[in-house]
Amino acid sequence: MAEIINGKIVSEKIRADIRCEVQKLKATAGIIPGLAVIVVGGDPASAVYVRNKHKACLDVGIESYQIQYPDGISEEELLRKIDELNLDDRVNGILVQLPLPDNISEKRVIERISPEKDVDAFHPINVGRITVGNYDFLPCTPAGIISLLDYYGIEICGKRCVVIGRSNIVGKPMALLMTERNATVTLCHSRTLNLDAICREADIIIVAIGKAEFLRADMVKDGAVVIDVGINRMENGKLVGDVAFDEVSAKASMITPVPGGVGPMTITTLLKNTLLAAKLHIMGHI
Ligand code: NAD
Repeated sequence: MAEIINGKIVSEKIRADIRCEVQKLKATAGIIPGLAVIVVGGDPASAVYVRNKHKACLDVGIESYQIQYPDGISEEELLRKIDELNLDDRVNGILVQLPLPDNISEKRVIERISPEKDVDAFHPINVGRITVGNYDFLPCTPAGIISLLDYYGIEICGKRCVVIGRSNIVGKPMALLMTERNATVTLCHSRTLNLDAICREADIIIVAIGKAEFLRADMVKDGAVVIDVGINRMENGKLVGDVAFDEVSAKASMITPVPGGVGPMTITTLLKNTLLAAKLHIMGHI
């Protein structure tokens, strides 16, 4: 039976360090790091994510500014708000909750956020910097997964890693970070042929596709480490991941549960990035 990789426990430990550093920053520089989160419309999943981010900020002493817009807001109005927040010294991190309504271009919104305040690391400048290994911010979910692997002492160097899903926010940057850590990485997606056979070669499998219980036991080799990024709400209200947890955990050596695996690490990395943005802001003013 696989050992559970507990994202809640690891998150708590990292958040305790962040809390101390936030207090230190307040005492020494008189600065309280601030995160602004913009939400457009009333998507219930977005509302839950944003509420969790707000609570996490309060928990570590980071100031949280929530800006809620109705569905009909124009792109210009949203961009104007971003311009305002870019200039606001109280705000170190800006995050626009995705997805956005169809009348607003995600690309233009992401590119409008100042790269120094882009704590999601979605801006093309930050993505480019990650590609060449010269970055300040790392995207929250992939970086949170690396922290989890490190915390549990899971060897990455030289291992065969399969990432399933090639989104800009999880799959692609995940493959980059695992490559940077010297894994041999295969990035799979909806057009991949022989996916099952590719998965069976992996020492570490990271699944981020948004399909409930997609990864089955016969796709996993004995002793593999399995990281489940997926969040799927079933008709009965239950949350399940992209991994068929019961059968895969009988074969894997270590596995993340859903909930309580990757999810808490994503928010914790967001807090880490906001603290870092505040520190970089202070350094820029010395
Ligand atoms: P996405 O929804 O943008 O894209 C899905 C990806 O999966 C695509 O690259 C597609 O090629 C691939 N895919 C779809 N069907 C496939 C199949 N049958 N075989 C192989 N590949 C297939 O991806 P996303 O935004 O990264 O989200 C993926 C999942 O992760 C969702 O459930 C999302 O809710 C969840 N998520 C969780 C966290 C967290 O903190 N835990 C963070 C971000 C996303």
